[in-house]
Amino acid sequence: MKYGTTKTVTVAILLGALAIACGGQFLTDKGSSEYMMSVYAALVLLVVGLGVAFIWGRCPNCGQRLFYRFLKWKKCPKCGKTLDNKGKYVKPERLK
Ligand SMILES: [Zn+2]
Repeated sequence: MKYGTTKTVTVAILLGALAIACGGQFLTDKGSSEYMMSVYAALVLLVVGLGVAFIWGRCPNCGQRLFYRFLKWKKCPKCGKTLDNKGKYVKPERLK
């Protein structure tokens, strides 16, 4: 996944998790099956979002793993290059 795409997807998934968590909190009765569903859905989305950040959240220049920190860092701590290279494909290590 490209660096820019990873950023967008991660933020979208995490915001989705937050939205579901808030929605479940306010719109359903605590302890009801809908409430539990929203809790599980939010947790699953949270895990998926962190998974995406974990696998693809790396420097497009040197491959340094940044995890969730790629959302706030502008420059790679390892190679010092700016992290705005949207066109570059980042190959995750485990899929090589
Ligand atoms: Zn780097």
